[in-house]
Amino acid sequence: MKYVVITGASTGIGYDAARYLIEKGFHVFGSVRKQADADRVQNELGERFTPLLFDVTDGAAIETAVTQVSEMVGSNGLAGLVNNAGIAVAGPLMYLPLDEMRWQLEVNVLGQLAVTQKFLPLLGAVPNAPHPPGRIVNISSVSGKVVYPFMGPYAASKHAIEAISDALRRELLIFGIDVIVIGPGSVKTPIWDKAQELDTELYSHTPYKTIMEGMKKVFVGQGRSGIPVEEVSKVIFEALTKEKPKARYALARKIFSGWLLPRYLPARMFDNVVAKRLGIPR
Ligand code: NDP
Repeated sequence: MKYVVITGASTGIGYDAARYLIEKGFHVFGSVRKQADADRVQNELGERFTPLLFDVTDGAAIETAVTQVSEMVGSNGLAGLVNNAGIAVAGPLMYLPLDEMRWQLEVNVLGQLAVTQKFLPLLGAVPNAPHPPGRIVNISSVSGKVVYPFMGPYAASKHAIEAISDALRRELLIFGIDVIVIGPGSVKTPIWDKAQELDTELYSHTPYKTIMEGMKKVFVGQGRSGIPVEEVSKVIFEALTKEKPKARYALARKIFSGWLLPRYLPARMFDNVVAKRLGIPR
């Protein structure tokens, strides 16, 4: 039996990855934050799913989960850790309350690093581990490489994840533990309903009011017509099991306009494209 931990398994990418990996023969430990979600997901995914109750910002709760996993997997260790839990904070940086920025980084960056540090021994980051080394799959985003206005907090957190992943992959060579990044564009998940609820009132007194409302429409519309979660689950499975996985997988519905163009167009040309698209006056 191969064991894998997935954070943020209550909904979206994490939930579907758990479902898919179970279908492929894994036993999945999935983190949730509410007992009701633990019961629901356990009920839906069956006995090869074990819920772990923790918030990624709660170090003590992560440690309790590590003990729980360790007791179940014994000397098999973990074949993988999928760092998926995340939130998206948006807003113009000039007016963004710093606490919102702190929370974005606390969850997406420090939380993810805390989970990684605590599960690393179970992935084989110890001398003479009794099992083959596991793999870490970090869910980044197109925003890990490309930045749109008002997405500064989220993009900063995902850029940090890219940097941490590259550093970790090179540091963990001594244990043979691989670190793989998956950077999807829009994926149809509840994250977009949360974006729809984003309160732009906070910025209603600023020059960005109208542009932010327009941007919300563009991004939420695009998000809701994003790729299905199953496509991400398949790539997560490949990253965990392929003999020689890529170091980074880019996934987008429109690979040219959604990934290659923003990534390789000179920055000032991309500024013009973005300004036109979001109606930013100059
Ligand atoms: P969802 O909102 O459906 O899922 C987010 C998951 O993260 C939920 O399980 C949520 O738990 C959990 N979570 C949020 N905050 C915390 C926390 N503090 N501690 C523990 N768990 C937490 O979104 P997605 O499935 O879309 O997002 C999953 C990942 O994919 C994120 O990292 C996101 O940035 C990334 N991504 C998503 C894209 C998309 O278009 N959907 C595109 C690119 C990347 P709870 O239910 O308790 O809130």
